[in-house]
Amino acid sequence: NYTTAAAFENPITPSVKVNYTQLLINGNFVDSASGRTFPTHDPRTGDVIAHVAEADAEDINRAVSAARKAFDEGTWPKMTAYERSRVLFRFADLLDKHTEELATLETWDNGKPYEQAAKVELPMISRIIRYYAGWADKIHGLTVPADGPHHVQTIHEPIGVAGQIIPWNFPLLMFAWKIGPALACGNTIVLKTAEQTPLSALYAAKLIHEAGLPPGVLNVVSGFGPTAGAALASHMEVDKLAFTGSTQTGKIVLELAAKSNLKPVTLELGGKSPFIVCKDADVDKAVELAHFALFFNQGQCCCAGSRTYVHESVYDEFLEKAKTRALKRSVGDPFLAGIEQGPQIDSEQFEKILRYIRSGVESGATLETGGERIGDKGYYIQPTVFSNVKEDMLIAKDEIFGPVQSVLKFKDIDEVIGRANATSYGLAAGVFTHDLDTANTLTRALKVGTVWINCYDVFDAAIPFGGYKMSGQGREKGIHCLSNYLQVKAVVTPLKDPAW
Ligand code: NAD
Repeated sequence: NYTTAAAFENPITPSVKVNYTQLLINGNFVDSASGRTFPTHDPRTGDVIAHVAEADAEDINRAVSAARKAFDEGTWPKMTAYERSRVLFRFADLLDKHTEELATLETWDNGKPYEQAAKVELPMISRIIRYYAGWADKIHGLTVPADGPHHVQTIHEPIGVAGQIIPWNFPLLMFAWKIGPALACGNTIVLKTAEQTPLSALYAAKLIHEAGLPPGVLNVVSGFGPTAGAALASHMEVDKLAFTGSTQTGKIVLELAAKSNLKPVTLELGGKSPFIVCKDADVDKAVELAHFALFFNQGQCCCAGSRTYVHESVYDEFLEKAKTRALKRSVGDPFLAGIEQGPQIDSEQFEKILRYIRSGVESGATLETGGERIGDKGYYIQPTVFSNVKEDMLIAKDEIFGPVQSVLKFKDIDEVIGRANATSYGLAAGVFTHDLDTANTLTRALKVGTVWINCYDVFDAAIPFGGYKMSGQGREKGIHCLSNYLQVKAVVTPLKDPAW
């Protein structure tokens, strides 16, 4: 278990070199205009991995000009859709070929288990690129049966320059979710990575150029939110903004977009997702799934099942087993085989999670296990389970974004529906039951973008993902994401010479 599992003291030295640390603008790696850099850290130790070029407003201007030119004058939007799809297919092959380097950078910069990055995330990343590569030559308009003597058709056109801002919890997966649909539709892009995790996207961006992407089509910049991010969100030459991050920042970028050129915005934001264990549940399986729903990726998932509702008839057994499972979780150097949990991303998140744990104790929840840091360097936290959690406690209301499971007891389905929906978020929910009526009732009543029944975190490329309420606007993945990146033009032609 976490007290014995791992070598915290002697972190494994990663097997790859950090080759790309500059801004990728117009197909070239360049320094920032100011010449400034910022450090990116290894969450296992807090040590600096590399210094990366820091973009500010001037660099965003340069990147947007490159993307603008590539859109207005370049080959990408005019290329046949089939040729565009072939670039994306070649890129996906290169992602597969470079899995080891990419997964290593991801683990090093983010702290997630290498096995998860290499065996779960990288295959999802190349898969989503192939999924959208497949769409590129299947996007087309309609012939519309209008009243009157007119031939009416619609043309689907790329929207233009897309600004994309991503978070640090799944750096490369978020990169792929963003660029895949935008490129398939023929747009050009300026993407800003999260300041905590700039490395893997730069490497992948190098690969897509090797696959034949023309210069200027995808520009990748590293930098901070209030400077580079805000400059991108408020840029007059950016035609569309896609943002993934916190609800708080989502509000800021929506306002910046509105105050500048009213660019359309899609938002993938935070959550406080319920995981509901019903009375008929096989407790062992429910415990395992609820554990996965919350603890996966160090608890740093927007859709983490962070309110575990358990029916009173199985509550005591569930709690005992959930505690035992958390104690068994293997925490340690994420480069080691068999490790389930690495460090949290940075000192800020680490401190924030420990503050939430203290607040849970102070507000009267029962700390069943965990609650402390592990070791004395890096950002490791013990898998933590609280019972007797009530909705008015901060740990039941706020997104903790860490390995902290809150278990709440419920009596009947109507009651749990009300309690599960009593949040400003609405990203996802888990339902654990084999009773069809219960599953159907819950599925229809929960105000969330995804309901996982007897499963969790299934992220197929074709499944739409997004939030109700303050968890977001619009959908990513699947067919639904394409409309985020397309304009629909209606073309009307008289069938014969007009009488006038
Ligand atoms: P964050 O909002 O702090 O940062 C996200 C991105 O926004 C970063 O690139 C950051 O630099 C940028 N940013 C920050 N301030 C900005 C500003 N003023 N203007 C423009 N850009 C700005 O979020 P985070 O802490 O990096 O990520 C965690 C959050 O992301 C969680 O709330 C999580 O739920 C959410 N998330 C949501 C999804 C989803 O699909 N719904 C997926 C992953 C993460």
